[in-house]
Amino acid sequence: MSRLIVVSNRVPDIGKGPPPGGLAVALKAALEQRGGIWMGWSGKSSGSQEPGPLHVEDRGGITFALSDLSRRDLSEYYAGFANSVLWPLCHYRLDLTDYARKDMAGYFRVNRFFAERLRPLIRPDDIIWVHDYHLIPLASELRRIGVENRMGFFMHIPWPSPDVFLTLPVHEAIIGGLTAYDVVGFQTTHDADNFASGLKREGIGGDVGGGWMEAYGRRFRAGAFPIGIATRDFAELARQAVRTAAVRRFADSLEGRDLIIGVDRLDYSKGLTQRIDGYEKFLEANPAWRGRTTMLQVTPKSRTEVPGYAAMQREVAESAGRVNGALGRLDWVPIRYVNRAIDQKVLAGLYRVARVGMVTPLRDGMNLVAKEFVAAQDPEDPGVLVLSRFAGAAQELDGAILVNPYDIEAVGNAVAKALSMPLEERRARFAPMMKQLEEHDISRWCSDFLSVLRD
Ligand code: UDP
Repeated sequence: MSRLIVVSNRVPDIGKGPPPGGLAVALKAALEQRGGIWMGWSGKSSGSQEPGPLHVEDRGGITFALSDLSRRDLSEYYAGFANSVLWPLCHYRLDLTDYARKDMAGYFRVNRFFAERLRPLIRPDDIIWVHDYHLIPLASELRRIGVENRMGFFMHIPWPSPDVFLTLPVHEAIIGGLTAYDVVGFQTTHDADNFASGLKREGIGGDVGGGWMEAYGRRFRAGAFPIGIATRDFAELARQAVRTAAVRRFADSLEGRDLIIGVDRLDYSKGLTQRIDGYEKFLEANPAWRGRTTMLQVTPKSRTEVPGYAAMQREVAESAGRVNGALGRLDWVPIRYVNRAIDQKVLAGLYRVARVGMVTPLRDGMNLVAKEFVAAQDPEDPGVLVLSRFAGAAQELDGAILVNPYDIEAVGNAVAKALSMPLEERRARFAPMMKQLEEHDISRWCSDFLSVLRD
């Protein structure tokens, strides 16, 4: 069996840090099975103008190859082009993109650097799987220095429509980067279609059917590979978590009120202020529910080094404070807002305690929280998912109440509908979603992608 090389910007600290998430566990299993290398950024700055040396370390049958990046690399490649251009662009936020020439140059420079570092480690029959928007040009950089191996790419975030994508000054280089792979995976068919219509619009190729696309006269496989979660493990985690002291204490603190839960990294794509406004509309329109629900919004800080994220932190906190000030009572706080990360073990229990899961991003590649919320439910008495139609997960989770997250009143109405949904309907909506999640879990995703790449 050929070895696997995984390349991603961040590499989980397996065996050292907190327990890895579903993706890390699945990739680790694939690497352990075939043997291989996981390469990426160490998460640290080299503290100088140059990137650090490559640290190569074997742990449990996997070779980890990590490199510190220079402060300049981190500012241009990571905070700059990846997170201030590609991230907002792919989430349809043209107003937030910051096209600095030096950041674009830094992005391609770091990709070239990773390619040069990786090349000596590659054996002729290795297959290479590159992850996410930080590393789009990696294959073309590897090809440039003579690497002919099979290479696949998975885009974890949305691919926008051509009208949005073509505003990117270096769109040709990015498209050229993607088309150097043998397999390009997107979260949804919608994303894959957007990519194909961009190729067509530019007159360089398009979808040629049967899971193939063509660009610049070269054929490659491209299509949707919706990412999953470790469904059965997560369901078991939730079953156990509700018995733990932390989750019990929390459930007791609700004093019989129905819990509405939201869990999102602090990010403008997540629609947090709109969600809070929607909940406020719900309380205004349904006075009988005042004092009878609690919304818990868990929002760890993220990307504090990227401009704009700190301002957003203030905005979300202000929104929650406004609703609590306007509608709260001496003995009732409508929204509990937690601005830090909660351990997934506890989170799983909180999902199970909740009557309603609010997942209302303005745009999201997949949204794993939506899938985790469903997997965590008690099949006998499941909660209801309110889900944005603009999350990739909406393509699969059709038992959710689908909403347009920009339509605040519709969000409010969805909360009302979810809270008063009869048991029979809740069960009928839950069962097919759970079946879908069990059949299309993270290990299936991993093996589906790898089998297309291999064959
Ligand atoms: N998560 C967590 N603790 C928190 C908040 C989130 O462990 O306090 C996890 C959550 O369980 C999920 C992931 O972070 O697995 C978020 O993934 P998602 O696809 O929903 O959003 P992203 O942050 O990747 O945009």
